[in-house]
Order: sequence, then C-alpha cells, then structure tokens
Amino acid sequence: MTTATPDAEIITPVDQAGVAAAIRASHDARQPIFSVGGRTSFDDVSVAPRASRLLDLTEMSQVVDYTPRDMTIVVEAGVCMADLAATLAAERQQLPIDEPCVAKATIGGVAATNWTGPRRLGCGTMRDYVIGIHAVDGRGVAFKGGGRVVKNVAGYDFCKLLTGSLGTLGVITRLALRVKPLPECFATVVADCPELAVAETILERLVRLDATPATVDLLVGSTWHETAGGSPDARPHPSALLAVRAEGTEAEVQWMAERVQYEFWQGGAAGAQRLSDSDADRLWSQQVEFADRGATSTHDQAALVIKVAVPPSAVTATIADLRLHDSTCTIQAHAASGIIVARLANFAGEDISRVLVGKLRPMAVHHGGSLVVLASQLEGLTPLIVWGGRTDATVLMERIKHQFDPHGILNPGRFVY
Ligand SMILES: Cc1cc2nc3c(=O)[nH]c(=O)nc-3n(C[C@H](O)[C@H](O)[C@H](O)COP(=O)(O)OP(=O)(O)OC[C@H]3O[C@@H](n4cnc5c(N)ncnc54)[C@H](O)[C@@H]3O)c2cc1C
Repeated sequence: MTTATPDAEIITPVDQAGVAAAIRASHDARQPIFSVGGRTSFDDVSVAPRASRLLDLTEMSQVVDYTPRDMTIVVEAGVCMADLAATLAAERQQLPIDEPCVAKATIGGVAATNWTGPRRLGCGTMRDYVIGIHAVDGRGVAFKGGGRVVKNVAGYDFCKLLTGSLGTLGVITRLALRVKPLPECFATVVADCPELAVAETILERLVRLDATPATVDLLVGSTWHETAGGSPDARPHPSALLAVRAEGTEAEVQWMAERVQYEFWQGGAAGAQRLSDSDADRLWSQQVEFADRGATSTHDQAALVIKVAVPPSAVTATIADLRLHDSTCTIQAHAASGIIVARLANFAGEDISRVLVGKLRPMAVHHGGSLVVLASQLEGLTPLIVWGGRTDATVLMERIKHQFDPHGILNPGRFVY
C-alpha cells in the first residue's frame, strides 16, 4: 500500500500555479509526486513506492461559480464532498454520487477514482457529471477541457479521460459539474429472498419495470438482515436481501414502491416491506459506506475488499461462486449494473496467489467480467494483482500516460503502467 514516508514532504498549494510549480520541480528532479485529497482511498492497495512527496489539494477548496438556475457548479478540486452537498442542498440540488467518507473525501479524489455509489443505476457515474476540467500534466503544464455548460466538448474529451485516471495523467485543480434537483422524497422496499434463485427471478422482473429505480442492491451476508430491521440470518445457505430505493415526487415513489412490492411477491420473496424512514436511512448509510475498507458500524474490518464487474445477468451466479470460496464473505451487488463488492474477512497473504489470482479472478472472467482489489492491508500486492493482467489496451494507455507524464512522476505504481 502507498504510505507517506515519515519525513514525506507535503506540499499544499493554494492555486493552480502552485500545483504547476510543484509538479515542474518534480519533473525536473525526476522525483515521484503523489496527489492527495481526503486520503480515504489513497493508501488502499496500490503498490507504489513509499510516497516521499505529497501534493495535498485540500487547501484549494473554493466554490468558483454556482448559478443554480443553470444546474451547474464550478469548484476547486479540494472541496470536500460534505461541503459540496451542503452548498447544493441549500438550493435543493445535488450531485448524486454517494461517497463512503463524505466528511473527508474531496471532489478531485472522487473524480480521479470515478467513484460511484449505490445510485449508479438511477443516477449514473461521476463521468456523467464532469462537464469541465482544469488540470496540470506531469511536466507542470496546465490544460483544460470542456466548460461550464453541458455539451461543450470539442476534440478529445479530457473530462472523461481524466475521470477515473487515479491522478496518473494529471492533477485536477478545478471541475465544472452538472447537478440534479434533490428528490422530493424516497422510499426503500426490501425483499427477503430465501435462495439466490429467487433473487434472480425477481431481478428479471424488475428489469421490465416501466421506470428505473435509483438503486437495486442485492445484499448477502447475515449483517444485512439486521441492518434492514430483520433478525440475524442464521440460515446455512446464502439467502439474500433485495433493497430497491425509489426517488422522486411523492406520487412517483408511491407508484414505484407498490410496483416493486408486487414484483417481489410475484417473484417468490419470503417477505417484502416498505421500510420506515429510520430503517431506510440506517440501511442506506450502510449501503453507501460498505466499500470503506475500515470497519463500518455493522461490518468488521475486511482483510480484502474486491470489486467484480459482470453482466447483470451473471450477478447471482457470481455471488454463488464467491460464497463457495468464502461462505462468510459479505456482499453488496448493484445488481442491475453488474457491480459486486465483496468484503472477505478470512483472507491471508498466502491466499493472494492461490485464491485471488488462482480462483477468484478466473471466476470473474468465466462470468464474462473482471475483478479489481479495492482495498487490502496485505503485503505483496502488485499492480497486476490489484488491477488484473496487461491487455492490448494497457500498451495504448502507457503511450497516453507517456504523453501526459513523460518522466512517470505522477502517482507511480497507482495503476497497471
Ligand atoms: C480502489 C479504491 C478504494 C477505495 N476505498 C475506499 C475506502 O476504503 N473508504 C472510502 O471511504 N472510500 C474508498 N474509496 C472511494 C474513495 O474514497 C473515493 O473514490 C475518493 O478517492 C475519495 O476522495 P479523496 O479526496 O479521499 O481521495 P484520496 O484518497 O486522497 O485519493 C484517491 C486517488 O485520487 C487521486 N487524487 C486525489 N485528488 C486528486 C486530484 N485533485 N487530481 C488528481 N488525482 C487526485 C489520488 O492520487 C489517489 O490516487 C475507494 C475508491 C477506490 C477507487
């Protein structure tokens, strides 16, 4: 994992010129420099050498321009997600990206990781909201893409290229974001599925709904039942909890809640109910913070947190295989998006090659998908183990990386290069 050396030099610029100067100095000295925001995922898994030079963006935390009427906002990269949410909520607006540690995470870090939470289905990913970007490349040269208005991208779309690039192509200094209205209300309806096969039947029915819910999560593991106001699930086989969140006007939410409960019963659910607002809030905060590697209010610290991406139709089969490898692992699947996050408690260093590389990744590929390591405290992880093997695309990405960062000083080891 990337950790700062005890004597790491921490540079905290207050503007883009300061960022450029710091990177230029690293470029000329061929010295690695690591961009950080709230550090909620910085030291997760990457195998970079110990960071001796950190570029901390948290001092750049201004709202540059906000005209609620235009449904866009321009912010500096160090703005923390909680402050951004508060600024938008005051105008009944939101950036519907759910981040585990909102009080610490910065918008620059969320963009750099293209983090998406449980509302990926109904609200999309961070890439859908970044409409303008200012950044500094690995030579210390500032560049920008997109703009303040939606659909203002000519030529290569730097917004999409930098979103998800983990700070390896450039350091983001400013973002123009599209925002959405806050929903009038929301509801969460849950179904108790005695078997994964029942969950599969219900998921097939939910795909045919006339409207798209915000979230369709398939939750496996005893702790989830407790969170949803149920009793701990002591059944031997992996039963599952389906949680569907509807957001919108009162009428829309009422319609969706009734329709989903009907589909639950038709699909063979053992129990279905609309949660009380307090139970819904409790479950929601668990759904949002599930990927946080640390211990959460209901989940113990995980030895390994993985993210598997498969076609939605392969979600329940993949979960069944995951539970075969570790019947105690806890799982959250954004089922209609094919994203599965699993926390494995019983995972040791010697399991890295035997289980992770030898079994879990081939299993994901078998189901038509891929697997990345989100977080682990285990030593011995390499970029190839974390992100998966090199592909033809990796060679192309390395060429692009070289154009943006010829000396490879931006976050070395943070990705497959
Ligand atoms: C692999 C992975 C594991 C995660 N694990 C957790 C977790 O355990 N707990 C949790 O709460 N959230 C986790 N997340 C979500 C994560 O918190 C957010 O995606 C986001 O990183 C939070 O922003 P931050 O400011 O804390 O970023 P940091 O953790 O400081 O940085 C995250 C990454 O973004 C880069 N970066 C940060 N700021 C910039 C910038 N301005 N320009 C360019 N690059 C930048 C960093 O170099 C680093 O690679 C994880 C995300 C990923 C991708």
